[in-house]
Amino acid sequence: MLRCSTFGCDGLPNKQCSNCERILLCEGCIPNHNTKHLKENTTCILDEIKIKLPAGRLARLRENIEKSISNIEDQKKRIMSEALKMNCQDDIMVTSAFE
Ligand SMILES: [Zn+2]
Ligand SMILES: [Zn+2]
Repeated sequence: MLRCSTFGCDGLPNKQCSNCERILLCEGCIPNHNTKHLKENTTCILDEIKIKLPAGRLARLRENIEKSISNIEDQKKRIMSEALKMNCQDDIMVTSAFE
């Protein structure tokens, strides 16, 4: 059976927070969770409970990998433009180091 994700709470969950790894929340814990988000200045996104499917996990994994790759690409671009800005003779070396 599904259980509220709050530590020490055995309540039957009726919402999940999409902003917190889809943790499950029971009626009684929703206000506390909202307060936590207010304190952290983040948004609480309450959704209907959807059971995680392996396909969803895979898609998320792929998403994470794509995100990491684009982060690396961004870094590469940043380093390249920094090298250009400094009119650095080594920019050819920077380029080849990433290939
Ligand atoms: Zn949350
Ligand atoms: Zn609870």
